Amino acid sequence: MKIKAKPARIFSKRAVPSSNTIVPLKDRRLNFGNKWDFAPAPEDSKSYVISPRHELFIGGKFAAPNSGKYFPSINPATEQPLTMIASANAADVDSAVKAARKAYETVWSKLPGRERGKYLYRIARIIQEKARELAVLETIDGGKPIKESRDVDLPLVAAHFFYYAGWADKLKYAFPGKLPHPLGVAGQIIPWNFPLLMAAWKIAPALACGNTVVLKPAETTSITALRLAQIFQEAELPEGVVNIVTGAGETGAAIVRHPGINKLAFTGSTEVGKQIAAAIAGTQKKLTLELGGKAANILFEDAPLDQAIEGIINGIYFNQGQVCCAGSRLFVQEGIYSTVIKKLRHRIQTLRIGNPLDKNTDIGAINSRPQLEKIRALVQSGIAEGAELTQTPCALPEKGYWFAPAFLTGVTHAHRVANEEIFGPVLSVMTFRTPEEAFERANNIPYGLSAGVWTDKGSKIFKLVHKLRAGVIWANTYNKFDPTSPFGGYRESGFGREGGLQGLAAYCRLD
Ligand code: NAP
Ligand code: MG
Repeated sequence: MKIKAKPARIFSKRAVPSSNTIVPLKDRRLNFGNKWDFAPAPEDSKSYVISPRHELFIGGKFAAPNSGKYFPSINPATEQPLTMIASANAADVDSAVKAARKAYETVWSKLPGRERGKYLYRIARIIQEKARELAVLETIDGGKPIKESRDVDLPLVAAHFFYYAGWADKLKYAFPGKLPHPLGVAGQIIPWNFPLLMAAWKIAPALACGNTVVLKPAETTSITALRLAQIFQEAELPEGVVNIVTGAGETGAAIVRHPGINKLAFTGSTEVGKQIAAAIAGTQKKLTLELGGKAANILFEDAPLDQAIEGIINGIYFNQGQVCCAGSRLFVQEGIYSTVIKKLRHRIQTLRIGNPLDKNTDIGAINSRPQLEKIRALVQSGIAEGAELTQTPCALPEKGYWFAPAFLTGVTHAHRVANEEIFGPVLSVMTFRTPEEAFERANNIPYGLSAGVWTDKGSKIFKLVHKLRAGVIWANTYNKFDPTSPFGGYRESGFGREGGLQGLAAYCRLD
């Protein structure tokens, strides 16, 4: 069937910029409804030095890679190179797994839980002490606004280490009637959207249970994982308990293939998750997968609208929409559709996009050029398929990767933007009439990670949460995380849980 393309309704000619040649970062005059603006308030970044080269962290020491190769890590807000990162090959991964095995057999699995807990508490406290530095590095390397890395990521990173430190000496009470035993060496592969937080989600429960770790951060965001390695040294964590191998997808694949790995934990795309599941089929390796999502936010007529709009905005524009559980589909009950669109349009115009180090910035830089290209291509496909684009008319910095917050209306289920993960600050808006229609349409995708329900009626919430096929459901709020609460999906969003007791179970054999 030929689809007739409608012209996009765009508030600004620069809505989907083909190049970023608009305003240099230092002069950025951010859109604030053209009414008023804050003075620039950049976080101090000069006090923190990024060394020009980062080595692998194996057996408690930083070491040059076997390959002798390094790749650059850049600041996505300026496109400036920050440092060179070591590229680990299969031989390096082998050294890391051997170091982890030795640490597992000689030290870590033999330590009483209360001793392991002490190390974890120590790590958590050092993270708190260095939180500002870590937040700045996270923002410079990954592009997320400082107010998110400082107020969301870092407190949660420390909280995960504290939480699992508390479990280390209480494991025998965690699963009544069953005794937990560690699995051995855990291979952990993480993405770029929450570099430190994903490392904490994986390392803290693994260590609490007595496992040792080989972790691979994402290619574009390795700096903070290696800073965490320095914290492990400072905490005098025994050598080899955590090893960090940096590199591209091939490094991750070498971890997956390595016969010395007992448990694999992967967070990333559904595509790579499927490759990993296929690669380890028939082996004894235990697996947890945290994959993509296409969450639905369901907004009923009886919801407190202004509160809901804030939550929906937070759900999709938080971290530039580069969040697996982003509320990227909004289902609005028909009677309030025009009011909601009016409110959304007004609110996205007040979001401030620009220098991620500025404390007033709401939307920072997209993590990499390929990710920006992907967002642009999907938005263009939405327009070509007949959706209408509404985007903030704002000046974007000259350098770096930016995408102004946007939403698409006139979206139907057949559109790619209603089914595929955009992983950017773009909301697809659709309507529904009855609760039945809402959950049927929300469930009608291959993913099952998260969802949101906005209504004044508790009964509606309880009815819907039983029908929605998503691992995490927020009611009258969105994107709330806590280390005690399990997180994960099912269907194409993966399996297994991180956080809470369920997160511990993923790193134990229960007898
Ligand atoms: P990705 O391409 O799957 O990469 C994730 C990690 O896997 C990176 O460290 C990557 O290395 C590595 N990798 C790539 N190919 C590999 C292979 N063949 N074998 C082993 N490892 C390999 O995902 P991404 O684009 O970085 O991240 C975005 C995706 O992650 C989205 O789909 C998002 O929904 C998902 N995500 C899910 C959750 C969750 O909890 N469910 C949380 C965050 C993100 P390189 O960096 O070198 O490519
Ligand atoms: Mg970077």
